[in-house]
Amino acid sequence: MARGVPKVPRRPVDQPRSLLEFQRAFPDEAACADYMERVRWPDGFACPHCGVVAEPYRFTARPAVLRCRTCQADTSLTAGTVMHKTKQPLHIWFWAAYLVSTQTPGMSALQFQRQLGLSRYETAFNLLHKLRAGMVRPDKDRIGDEFAVEVDESFVGGRTKGKGRGNTDAPLVIAAVEVRERLSEKKGRRTKYAGRLRLRHIVSRSREECEEFVRDSIQPGSTVRTDGHNGYDRLPRLGYRHEAMVLDGDHDKIEAHLPLIHIVFSNLKTWLRGTHHGVSAQHLQAYLNEYVFRFNRRFYPMTSFASVLGIGSVRSGPTYRGLYDGDYAHPNPDKPGRVKAARRAASLRARRAGR
Ligand SMILES: [Zn+2]
Repeated sequence: MARGVPKVPRRPVDQPRSLLEFQRAFPDEAACADYMERVRWPDGFACPHCGVVAEPYRFTARPAVLRCRTCQADTSLTAGTVMHKTKQPLHIWFWAAYLVSTQTPGMSALQFQRQLGLSRYETAFNLLHKLRAGMVRPDKDRIGDEFAVEVDESFVGGRTKGKGRGNTDAPLVIAAVEVRERLSEKKGRRTKYAGRLRLRHIVSRSREECEEFVRDSIQPGSTVRTDGHNGYDRLPRLGYRHEAMVLDGDHDKIEAHLPLIHIVFSNLKTWLRGTHHGVSAQHLQAYLNEYVFRFNRRFYPMTSFASVLGIGSVRSGPTYRGLYDGDYAHPNPDKPGRVKAARRAASLRARRAGR
């Protein structure tokens, strides 16, 4: 019954670089369990109950459970992760993590349900939201510094059923994106491209919300470029170099002053509309987090897979009921308070696990 030593030697967690490699790396539940064990205990299994570091017993019928050879206590590989108490096989989660983190446009719950052959839409919906909770890096730092940052706000559509364009209850999003430059061989000159991104769902364009977002997201001392909105006019007092320009919808001015943020908003709206057919305000921040996660890793998409599972192994996700009752607050990557709380909880769990 016991599987004995894992067939995969312990080594730094590597990642699949293609669908084929993924399939080969995770053909069954045991392979997924081995991977999770290596992610959680890179230096070898340490029993959370008695603290002894030794090879545990493994069971073919219950691959997600390890039994300590010293104290005989069982440890669940999914405990303390977004997969906790899951009824889904591990390989469904692995496919989900792979698909949401490496597919450029991400996946809707419906596409996902079909791809994985899940019988219920709610299962797909719940699973994707749990993975989105793992798409927030707990150590998110503020962007900017040597890079100038473009900041702007925009309505992002939302559900437009029966209302048509221009409805005013569309949710509002504020964004900050780093301006980076590289030499374009084709154009023979330096061109701008987007560096790291931050997005937040806000209630209004008030100075309070604009300033709070800038303070939480951008390193003081950075150059911040905005339009003429007076919500930003006190940024110099907060320690930022502020470059404001009244744009009046003038295309040339926008192109010169805030070129990147407009592309970001345009792509974000296309994604929300095209992949998800609009998103309710209640869940918007989760989708923004997902978008930022992929955006900030778009030059090395394959590292995202391990990242989702890696972070996922120390973070608890929402329950289905919590999502629908609205009790669960989607983690906002740019709220240091919540990040601190998450870190505290994680270190508490780690200390408990270490006892
Ligand atoms: Zn033990």
